[in-house]
Amino acid sequence: MTVKISKRIVGYKVLDTAQDKAPATEELERAIEKMSENVSRPDTLPGATYKIKTPLSEHALYITINDIVLNPGTAHEQRRPYEIFINSKNMDHFQWVLALTRVVSAVFRKGGDCTFLVEELKAVFDPKGGYFKKGGRFMPSLVAEIGECIEKHLIDIGMLQPPEIAEHQQKIMDEKRAQFEARGTAPGAPEHSPYPAGAQLCNKCMTKAVIMMDGCMTCLSCGDSKCG
Ligand SMILES: [Zn+2]
Repeated sequence: MTVKISKRIVGYKVLDTAQDKAPATEELERAIEKMSENVSRPDTLPGATYKIKTPLSEHALYITINDIVLNPGTAHEQRRPYEIFINSKNMDHFQWVLALTRVVSAVFRKGGDCTFLVEELKAVFDPKGGYFKKGGRFMPSLVAEIGECIEKHLIDIGMLQPPEIAEHQQKIMDEKRAQFEARGTAPGAPEHSPYPAGAQLCNKCMTKAVIMMDGCMTCLSCGDSKCG
């Protein structure tokens, strides 16, 4: 392309492609919507409601977590939790449950990493002792149960990875279980546990699934094993 210069040249600049591109990328970065308090809530949000039954109350607890989809339809599409609601007919815990939902929702809306909530909540132990869930898994508190619910949700929307058990480890666990059951131990603990009766509590995954095989205490749920 020919350009006729009709004015006097008073200065010039050599084009620097790298520098000229930078502002464009920056602009693009700014255009990508990130989670923050400034993200306004759309009228409708997708979400999931989880029903939790505990031996602490005859009424179930319903936990609803709604998500917001940022940058929909683009390569930067991201689904993030936006708010949490907890409902129950049982009003015993109303005060702190309400406080917890507000704080957790606020953390969701702040943006950044919110997965730490899971570990924090799951580490709360009820001084009254906690309880066993169906399947023989120990739940240290109602707060921990809420933490586990959030964990499940974050796994479902892809923000957390489910705990992985290596294929070879699962094979060993299945073999050990078959051997243990073949010894004639009555299968199934009283609380409809899928693990052998008499299985002990695992300190790692809090499930009554630890059996003694070949001189090793082995957990049939998470594969944790101690020998010697
Ligand atoms: Zn375990």
